Amino acid sequence: MIHYKNSEEIELMRESALIVSRTLGTIATMIKPGVTPLELDKVAEQCIRDEGAIPGFLGLYDFPATLCISVNEQVVHGIPDKRPLQNGDIISVDCGSLKNGFYGDHAFTFAVGEISDEIKQLLKVSKESLYLGIEQMVAGNRIGDIGHAIQSHAELHKYGVVRKLVGHGLGKKMHESPEVPNFGRRGSGPKIKEGLVLAIEPMINLGTKNVIQLSDGWTIVTADRKPSAHFEHNIAVVNGQPEILSTFQYIEEALSKVHASFI
Ligand code: MG
Ligand code: MG
Repeated sequence: MIHYKNSEEIELMRESALIVSRTLGTIATMIKPGVTPLELDKVAEQCIRDEGAIPGFLGLYDFPATLCISVNEQVVHGIPDKRPLQNGDIISVDCGSLKNGFYGDHAFTFAVGEISDEIKQLLKVSKESLYLGIEQMVAGNRIGDIGHAIQSHAELHKYGVVRKLVGHGLGKKMHESPEVPNFGRRGSGPKIKEGLVLAIEPMINLGTKNVIQLSDGWTIVTADRKPSAHFEHNIAVVNGQPEILSTFQYIEEALSKVHASFI
């Protein structure tokens, strides 16, 4: 069953989403060679608690951390560890928060130091595919229209679109109906209606679309061990149109300052 949200509930969800956005903005200032995922995780937990919220992932299905940090060939659900990040890595940071009974859940893939042009292009196209999917979240369209837009753009660039993991409805539960595949046929799936809130989250691989789970029971990696990118936003249908509740603004501000310091 799909739980549609009224305008008060959407405002509460915006608050939860923005707590994640600000947390990711803080994390963005810290990402450089030598820092460890575990250090990022500790800071993220404090950021979320300082906002009067609870980390959304910690303890959810027994996940042991605040952030999912997935490095290079890791697609999603990586557990933060003590291995320092290296120049040329990419890391996907996925973060959840819970406040006023509603979840926020969004993600961004960062470059560590200087990355290759090939991987820069993967990040660019993956982020573009997220926004193309969001454009389709219009009342009267169907869930398959979102996936079709994401898949078409990613496959145009010969990337692999992960099939085994999908986006989802979001609300009082982290994962609500409907599932939101990053692939699909136009005009298929549930109809999009006013008050629908989704987490749209393309997972796009440089190589094969196939993934496997590591023996830690969490980490998903690409089958060919080539890098993977993950971008996620929370979006509500308001007045028939997609309204993005989360924002990459804090991340982009942080990254522009880091970049400026090198000039
Ligand atoms: Mg997420
Ligand atoms: Mg999600």
